[in-house]
Amino acid sequence: MGTEWMADGLCREYSPETFFPRDGMGVIVAQRICAVCPVAGKCLVYALDNHIDHGVWGGKSERERRRLLRERRRLRLIYRDAV
Ligand code: SF4
Repeated sequence: MGTEWMADGLCREYSPETFFPRDGMGVIVAQRICAVCPVAGKCLVYALDNHIDHGVWGGKSERERRRLLRERRRLRLIYRDAV
């Protein structure tokens, strides 16, 4: 996936620190912005595919993305074994 979608991200209107919060309240603030971002889906896929560890991407926190990556790996194993 390319990065052209980033030009349409709402985060361009905020300081970068907003999306690299230091606490849970900061995560919520970033997630509220991401919730109405037109490219949130692409942003999340990009972060997952590139194993981006830090910050809020696609409305998901670092912890949430780690969980999604584990689930994706688990599902790939299941489907690989089913084929
Ligand atoms: S989903 Fe959030 S982090 Fe991703 S481009 Fe949109 S505003 Fe930025």
